[in-house]
Amino acid sequence: MMKLIFLGPPGAVKGTQAGIVSKKLGIHTISTGDMLRAAVKEGTEVGKRAKSFMDAGKLVPDEVIIGIVAERVEKPDCAKGYILDGVPRTIAQAEALESAGIRFDHVISIETEDDVVKERLVGRRVCPECGATYHTVSNPSKVEGKCDACGHELIQRHDDTADTVAHRLEIYHSETEPLKEFYQKRDVLAKVEDEGSIEDINHRIMAVLGL
Ligand code: ADP
Ligand code: ZN
Repeated sequence: MMKLIFLGPPGAVKGTQAGIVSKKLGIHTISTGDMLRAAVKEGTEVGKRAKSFMDAGKLVPDEVIIGIVAERVEKPDCAKGYILDGVPRTIAQAEALESAGIRFDHVISIETEDDVVKERLVGRRVCPECGATYHTVSNPSKVEGKCDACGHELIQRHDDTADTVAHRLEIYHSETEPLKEFYQKRDVLAKVEDEGSIEDINHRIMAVLGL
């Protein structure tokens, strides 16, 4: 049973790396960002509450997040372990997980410079149909504005505009970064530099996991 947290600013390679590690370990990645976007799309109660916060680049209230995560990790497909991506994002969320008796084996902090984050997110384009992601400069789709995988029109996420990205970074530094110290004290924190190829970064992560 391996329980991991991937921590890092928006636009770090968190999601990508969590996906790779998930496959290698045969456990699921639980992304609160993805869960919330799905809830917004489906128009559920949680989605309705979360939408305005997300569009503004603000954090969704802790009690909403704690509720959806607590419910998710109880599902049978989490019995072998799981990776949390994008949660906890505040000390209150971390404390809630701890109060629920959940302990983590490793907390991987992906270390990415603010300028890199800005560049990546403002150029990011996503397919609302199949979830594929592109970048206008570093990973453009073959036909401009169209998804390679399914042909759907690509969009820019509401929260990927320059102002909102700057705001999300501020929140990351003030609300989320203190989690590093929180998990450092529990001896589970490992910092991984966001440099080099996806494989390079993955090797560093696997080394931290002792694999
Ligand atoms: P990012 O690209 O910033 O890593 P995510 O896809 O993880 O973003 O999340 C998108 C948005 O969903 C966040 O800006 C925030 O509004 C909300 N959100 C996701 N996870 C959390 C969380 N753990 N706590 C509060 N809000 C969250
Ligand atoms: Zn697509």
